[in-house]
Amino acid sequence: MILDEITMPEFEAGLTLTRTALLPIGSVEEHGLHLPLGTDTAQVLEVSRRAARQVPVFVCPPLHYGYCRSTRDHPGTLSISTESLRSVVFDIGSSLFAQGIRGLIVASGHAGALHMSALEEAGERLVESHPGLEVAVVCEYRWAQEAGRNAVVETADDGHAGEIETSRIQSLSPHLVRGTSPEEYPRFAAPFVARNKRSQWPGGVWGNPAKASPEKGERLLAASAERMVELIREMEARLGAKQRGG
Ligand SMILES: [Zn+2]
Repeated sequence: MILDEITMPEFEAGLTLTRTALLPIGSVEEHGLHLPLGTDTAQVLEVSRRAARQVPVFVCPPLHYGYCRSTRDHPGTLSISTESLRSVVFDIGSSLFAQGIRGLIVASGHAGALHMSALEEAGERLVESHPGLEVAVVCEYRWAQEAGRNAVVETADDGHAGEIETSRIQSLSPHLVRGTSPEEYPRFAAPFVARNKRSQWPGGVWGNPAKASPEKGERLLAASAERMVELIREMEARLGAKQRGG
């Protein structure tokens, strides 16, 4: 059930089928010369919609913004603070709880470490504030990376706007892919906090987009959707066990 597209009575009827909601989180972020700024949102939303065709679940409208650290100087990236991200996810989760949702899956298409930790903190606050609410926080992009290791992905250190993401957007929205970008890896000098990040990562690509194909993209989207279905079933099982006093 796509929350954007259903009515009040359909929402009420939906609660008799499931108490689980899925909140996709994306970003507005550069993805090299060839992928659109909405790449992260598009992938996690597609995986969420595919899962919702297989099991009853409410798919919330995605949050199109996230916290972007390494790419914030690149043209087009629009980042929100980790404070804002925590607050908005907490508020949406609280509102879902008030509407009868008891299982919340926060799934991010953007994989930044600080971005993910803000989502985990929001999850902690939600669980503390709402006894009876189960929360799962997952990085859907990591699922694709893990699935890719099983022979689909050829780039050893594939990351941002590389083989995985290019393949998935080629499969999902080929009209939005503008050719490719050169293979590149960032040169951040850890442990130093980079000031001008763009100078150390000019093209904004981590990996080799030239290795991408729509067939790989389809396999990676399907693998993630399957994992999302499993997680939704696991969430429903936990909620069912609780209802039975387990
Ligand atoms: Zn991305």
